[in-house]
Amino acid sequence: MRELVTVGSFCPNETCADYGKVEEGNLIRYGKSNEGRQRFQCKTCRQTFNERKGTLFYNRKTEEKDSLECLALLAEGSRISRISRAKGIKEDTILSFLREAADPAEQVEAILLNDYRISRVQIDGLWTYVGREKRLTNR
Ligand SMILES: [Zn+2]
Repeated sequence: MRELVTVGSFCPNETCADYGKVEEGNLIRYGKSNEGRQRFQCKTCRQTFNERKGTLFYNRKTEEKDSLECLALLAEGSRISRISRAKGIKEDTILSFLREAADPAEQVEAILLNDYRISRVQIDGLWTYVGREKRLTNR
């Protein structure tokens, strides 16, 4: 399975030819945002974005894999209680994964689609489950 990556090593623009490709060399540093965040530009699609966009669970690296596996299981229709028992993770923790996933939703979707072979329909079901509207439009 691929490691999770943050913006700066891949382009988060879904319409870009290099979308989701890691370490392709298409991203360059592009100054800082008003809040002092590193900005990047994709040389392929010319879109710019800051490091926050597309950064997944950036403070909780050790939990990333667990989190994605739980989300994949949920998308496949498993109950939280079952996942909790199977993986030895507290239900509260799984719920916190869900809450976090609903924020950088587009990157979570990309990983579930590509690495976990979860279908679009299943992902839509997951977001319904999370109870948050999808926020896939540009911010
Ligand atoms: Zn791009």
